[in-house]
Amino acid sequence: MTDTLSDKWLSYLQCPLCSQSLEQAGGEKDTGLYCSTCVQTYPVVSDIPCLIDPKTVDVQAIFCKQYDALRKKEGWVSDQPGYYEALPYQDLTGHHTQEWTVRLRSLEWLLKWLTDTFGENRLSILDAGAGVGWLSQILANSYDVIAMDVNIGSHGLNAFQPLQRPYLAIQGLMDRIPLANDALDVVVANASLQYTAAHHHVLQEAHRILRPHGCFVVMDSPVYPNKHSVDQAHQRTRAYYDKMGWPDLAARYFGIMSDLFSHDEQFTFHYYRRDLSTRDHLVKKVRSWLGKSTGARFPIIVGRVVK
Ligand SMILES: [Zn+2]
Repeated sequence: MTDTLSDKWLSYLQCPLCSQSLEQAGGEKDTGLYCSTCVQTYPVVSDIPCLIDPKTVDVQAIFCKQYDALRKKEGWVSDQPGYYEALPYQDLTGHHTQEWTVRLRSLEWLLKWLTDTFGENRLSILDAGAGVGWLSQILANSYDVIAMDVNIGSHGLNAFQPLQRPYLAIQGLMDRIPLANDALDVVVANASLQYTAAHHHVLQEAHRILRPHGCFVVMDSPVYPNKHSVDQAHQRTRAYYDKMGWPDLAARYFGIMSDLFSHDEQFTFHYYRRDLSTRDHLVKKVRSWLGKSTGARFPIIVGRVVK
């Protein structure tokens, strides 16, 4: 990235409030992006345009701080040098080696699927709910990538310093994506869709920003077969966050029900993989035999745009 946003990246962005295009705010470096309709300047912090409703900035910052603290306690974030660079191939902390192996398997599936579906074309891809941006790092070897997340801290999008990022990082929300219509070929929600309240709005937004041949890929999120199992998941999540010391975080978890995909008319969805791994599949079967099944599945789901 450079001191100012290149025209190429700027053309993707739009105001999260009114959907108008943005321009560089005049003056010194990092003064922000300006919407002339709203008379609003959005800051750019560490080369990350902050494209959320300015009135919600403080609330989102509190959420990110609590979420970082929880993830640190769980062993998902680390200050160890090289930790983020090694993901998902290696978990240098050793805390979640098995989970990162699963993420790696999903990544390998995604890379193959992208080539099989789109050939060698240099696609424009949104990594929606990118976290630290490890997936964007890898996708950016072959594609133009935008990593979007609400967390712009050192365990969010700024885990990789500006000069380490071969992609554009932006602060944004999945149900109000600050990107232009028909701008992208692929949107990937990698283990992120369950953290957004209005799943239907996310689908609408993904459909709006995708080109007519575009695809929406949902990976590594739990998908439940019915409302009962979603409610059970909420209860477990609430109890877990209480126990860990951040009960407020439960308000940001939203179980995904499979009919979200089967009833949608903006995409034709196809399930590519039903479970995490053979081992997890067996565990689920045993739990089912014992009457303990929670019904959650971790499929890879691809929606092709209907326009
Ligand atoms: Zn505006």
